[in-house]
Amino acid sequence: MARYIGPVCRLCRREGIKLFLKGERCYTDKCAIERRAYPPGQHGQGRGKKSTEYSLQLREKQKLKRIYGVLERPFRRFFSLAEQKKGVTGENLLTLLERRLDNMVYRMGFATSRSEARQLVRHGHISVNQRRVSIPSYLVDPGDEVQVKEASRKITHIQESVDLAQRRGVPEWLEVNKDSFTGKVRALPTRAQLTLPINEQLIVELYSKV
Ligand code: SF4
Repeated sequence: MARYIGPVCRLCRREGIKLFLKGERCYTDKCAIERRAYPPGQHGQGRGKKSTEYSLQLREKQKLKRIYGVLERPFRRFFSLAEQKKGVTGENLLTLLERRLDNMVYRMGFATSRSEARQLVRHGHISVNQRRVSIPSYLVDPGDEVQVKEASRKITHIQESVDLAQRRGVPEWLEVNKDSFTGKVRALPTRAQLTLPINEQLIVELYSKV
């Protein structure tokens, strides 16, 4: 399963916003965006501000992919799925990405970042409705129960993540019991509930051209 393994703070600097890819570090003054709020690379500080319609659309797509840690090909698949569903394609895309199991594990606070959550899922620490699921892109449905496996609850990092998640807060569409390391999906989030700094319509426009 392919994944991005390069430096992640560069991605935030490229997009010019915090994408929260590094867990706790993102909330400290060690965050690269706090220190160097300009694009990476030799010409980062000198880069011109000229934006074309295409570049705006492309940046929006890259931002969304990077937030959820999804590469181009699976992202395309999610987009096709979103198009096939009833409703607004851009919103369908965001909902589908939110339903990913690695995202749910992160949102519920069992991991400090989505990449960490992906690793927990891959290593078999997570179950859905009492069945072990090791596929990070597994789509969770409303009513599903996500749980850290009993034997894994002693892992210090998971325990620390649960405590630290209090600061981030749990979204209203989820219900989390931190004592039993369990989370339930109450409902799928509405667009208004997703406070992502994304203009998904630009992504729809980009893909409609190709
Ligand atoms: Fe982005 Fe986090 Fe790195 Fe800051 S610390 S630049 S938010 S990944």
